[in-house]
Amino acid sequence: MYKKIYENIEEFPLDGFNEKVYRGIKKLGIKNLYELLYYFPRGYDNRTNMKKIGDLRGEEYVVIKGNIMTINSQFMKNKKKMVKAKITDGTGILDLIWFQMPYLQKTLKIGEEYIFIGNVKRGYIFQMINPEYKIVKNQDSFTGEILPIYSTVKTMSQNVLRRILEIGLEKYGALFEENIPEKIISKYSILGREEALKNIHFPENEKKLEEAKRRFAIEELLMLEMGILQKRFLVDEEGTGKYKIDGKKELVKEYVDSLGFQLTKAQKKVITEIYKNLNEGRIINHLIQGDVGSGKTIVAILLLLYIIENGYQGALMAPTEILANQHYLSLIETFEKLGIKVALLTGSLKGKKREELLKEIEKGNIKLVIGTHAIIQENVKFKRLGLIVIDEQHRFGVAQRKALRDKGILSNLIVMSATPIPRSLALSIYGDLDVGIIDELPPGRKPIKTKWINNEIDKEKMYNFIGKKLLEGRQAYFVAPLIEESEKLSAKSTMELFEEVSTYLKGFRVGLLHGKMGNKEKDEIMNGFKKGDINILISTLVIEVGVNVPNASIMVISDSERFGLSTLHQLRGRVGRGEHQSYCFLISKTENMTSEARLKILEETQDGFKIAEEDLKLRKAGEIFGTRQSGISDLKFIDIVHDIKTIKLVKDIVTEYLKENRGEIKNKILEIDIEEKFKDSLTS
Ligand code: ADP
Ligand code: MG
Repeated sequence: MYKKIYENIEEFPLDGFNEKVYRGIKKLGIKNLYELLYYFPRGYDNRTNMKKIGDLRGEEYVVIKGNIMTINSQFMKNKKKMVKAKITDGTGILDLIWFQMPYLQKTLKIGEEYIFIGNVKRGYIFQMINPEYKIVKNQDSFTGEILPIYSTVKTMSQNVLRRILEIGLEKYGALFEENIPEKIISKYSILGREEALKNIHFPENEKKLEEAKRRFAIEELLMLEMGILQKRFLVDEEGTGKYKIDGKKELVKEYVDSLGFQLTKAQKKVITEIYKNLNEGRIINHLIQGDVGSGKTIVAILLLLYIIENGYQGALMAPTEILANQHYLSLIETFEKLGIKVALLTGSLKGKKREELLKEIEKGNIKLVIGTHAIIQENVKFKRLGLIVIDEQHRFGVAQRKALRDKGILSNLIVMSATPIPRSLALSIYGDLDVGIIDELPPGRKPIKTKWINNEIDKEKMYNFIGKKLLEGRQAYFVAPLIEESEKLSAKSTMELFEEVSTYLKGFRVGLLHGKMGNKEKDEIMNGFKKGDINILISTLVIEVGVNVPNASIMVISDSERFGLSTLHQLRGRVGRGEHQSYCFLISKTENMTSEARLKILEETQDGFKIAEEDLKLRKAGEIFGTRQSGISDLKFIDIVHDIKTIKLVKDIVTEYLKENRGEIKNKILEIDIEEKFKDSLTS
């Protein structure tokens, strides 16, 4: 019965409307009854300012109830008609004037009472021009109104849409059964669904409107979190005890000893916690956040080593082939020395070689597979996969994690992100993950000197400075936002940048890297840069994540206002990885205040968490990585950045509910709504 509301809107007659109106409704993207009644106003026209004529003082938007004393019309100079009326409410007299509405003279009757809404102006006496009028049926109950304002199309007027919703609510509102469990409704004093629907469209008063908004904020977040947390609950239930760890740590020790340095406290803390969880047989679902350069790779290695020496296989996934390649090259030696077979699996591995590799993985001979998302493609089978580490999570996203689980790969899972986000936000976006933070950089790191370059003179100086550093043996990155020239964006393409750099820095070897190049070509250039054969690397965003060339100490970012702060911070993190003082130049001629403010933040701080927070303040939720796929950016009532309180409340509500019901959603109505809501959005 309830499911009916998701059927074609045309199944629901709206009295007084014909087919044409359904076409209009469909233009608004409304396909079913649910979408119609959940087509919420974008704003409201507040007409609760009821006034007596005798209390009018100055110009204002008011609602006045009064009796018509006189009404007549006259022609103006342009031969158009003007209707004039005088009304009174016993406290004074008000003039009303309408232009080009001659029919009003017949519609409005002398002696009758009406409601008039509009702006009053002080003339000889007070007057209203072109006020709206309403016939009042129930005189005493009318206390003014708050009218909805909808986003609409040309062919559908505000008034028609209002009327449609009025009828829709009256006729079908009762079909919208409560979808929040009764216990939660009463415990948290949440406005009931039908009443909230009525009040979100046609609020009785401001208080009711607020209650309705709160209700839908909780409702939509509740649906989202139910999905996220339920998955977590079930993974915990199913996964606990699935992996048996004997606690062998020889290889781990050998590896730690071979490092030329001590692990930081923060690294140890994260590793210890996860080892402990593994030993207890708990399934791991961890998000590890750590600023660029905080040493996440080593943490990943130590976790993978532990799982491998205790009898399982591991997988390390990176967002790009370049990064996968780099991981492979830097790890292969270490792991082979420890007697562990490692393989690289990316999309470019094809044919027979690929088949052979897949066989070896399935047999369990290869213990560690490093690669791109090619690893989670269907035909890759592991013998005994124990841990998947996903590097640079924000490029992988929620959807990929879901793909893994949907394939029945219930594995220990660790995602690592260098784009820190505030903890509370992390909890809601990645609600299915535990969050661990590496909040400490290895000792001895020198802060990167950052400068914003906004004029030609400074730019010239910058090139001279870079030339000197290159002569001292350092290397430099130059990053441009686009591959090819685009008139529209007038952003500097890599080619253009290539020419500029070659002119300013004659005699140095310049390599060019961009997304349209083949992998082999990319590798060659990347390797040339690593070896130091190439002095300057010009690139698009492909080098954003994870690339590690300690001798490179200069980062120049062209058109830097086009990048998000966190991206800029990531890019900057490519330097400052060695013993040399490093520099970052942000080139931007922008006059725009926000851009300027953003770039200043980078000049002033190196703390990724702080930068992320500032970035959030300047951006909309939809732009935050991961939010789009997770459904968070579709939230209409929650401001994900600022409304942390509601988010926490709903998380608590949902956690409590799932515990009580052992991970089951017992409310049929809620279940149907969740199914309908996510059937399209989360499958991609
Ligand atoms: P990210 O967190 O950005 O992935 P990496 O794992 O690439 O950082 O580490 C950056 C650099 O710091 C690497 O060269 C790595 O060898 C080094 N490093 C990692 N941990 C430590 C440590 N505890 N002490 C000193 N250097 C470290
Ligand atoms: Mg890394």
